[in-house]
Amino acid sequence: MRTRADPRLRPLLVRWFRAEQRALPWRTRREPYRVWISEAMLQQTRVATVIPYYERFLARFPDIATLAGAAEEDVLAHWSGLGYYRRARTLHLTARRIVEQHAGEFPRTRAELLELPGIGPYTAGALASLAFDAPEPLVDGNVERVFARLFALPGAAGSTELRKRVWDLAAELVPRAGGAGEWNEALMELGALVCLPREPRCAACPWAGACAARALGRARDFPAPKARKLGVEVELEALFVERGGRILLWRRPEQGRMARLWELPTRELGSQRLFPARLPTGFRAGAELGRLRHTITHHRIRLALRRGQIAVPPRGADWRWVPWGETSALALTGMARKALRALRPTAILRGTPRSPPSKTSECRA
Ligand code: SF4
Repeated sequence: MRTRADPRLRPLLVRWFRAEQRALPWRTRREPYRVWISEAMLQQTRVATVIPYYERFLARFPDIATLAGAAEEDVLAHWSGLGYYRRARTLHLTARRIVEQHAGEFPRTRAELLELPGIGPYTAGALASLAFDAPEPLVDGNVERVFARLFALPGAAGSTELRKRVWDLAAELVPRAGGAGEWNEALMELGALVCLPREPRCAACPWAGACAARALGRARDFPAPKARKLGVEVELEALFVERGGRILLWRRPEQGRMARLWELPTRELGSQRLFPARLPTGFRAGAELGRLRHTITHHRIRLALRRGQIAVPPRGADWRWVPWGETSALALTGMARKALRALRPTAILRGTPRSPPSKTSECRA
């Protein structure tokens, strides 16, 4: 079988997809808003992780008008734990733009979609094809890997050379007369279920007879691996300061990583500058309560959790005493969420009530 743009490729893949696709919540109704939210969440995040977040987010913000009218903190709280918080902020901003400038309707063309904040070539292709069935290609890591193997393409994963080649092929192969959304989804599904990064399941692949890398006996060699970014070790210390069933949290600054998200008072022991090296004066670190590991992009964090004390808490809107039962409603960093899960048994052992009646309060200036 000739590989390049072979007309038999399409029916083989589509037939496989119709039989094998996963039942995913964003596939039940192909509406632009639902496609958009799912695609934003799925970037850099596994499907199994996204599903409960997607369902909670859609339950709270069922349509674009609700999302546009929500407070940023509410949006971040429903994103909290997914990471890449800039995506949530951009999503919110874009929802407002669509409501204000497009009367709440998503633009339908790739060019118009690309003018919206946070919508790049992949998301524009996904929205145009999946929601409107426009004949637009898309390329993500799965599609890149599938095409790199199917056509035995040179170039490292994620390289400009390979990406351009794959985009050209995707544009050449996308159906022009209907079915573009299904085709694009089938390509991604093949990469997710069969053409796996380390162990491609060629025996189960509808394109096994057409695949150039398989014919060479080198399916795993394509695409060539990209140069790895070295991990950076980061040492942090977080303080668990508790009073009357409430814990002291602080909000990260406006700029920088995890901007405006809440966490335990934390300081950095090394010099990577992921966190401030000093806490406001007055904090005293006590007994160690535990240790945990957390990864943020290429930062590998080792976090020591310590009991903390402070005679006079810092003041202002960026410090709050929060009852245990209300922490999950805040836009927490992923690390803070993990730390609070680890600390909860400690607090319960000491007799801290689970849901104290007092309200969250700012540390008043
Ligand atoms: Fe991937 Fe194997 Fe299918 Fe080729 S035959 S596309 S390597 S799963």
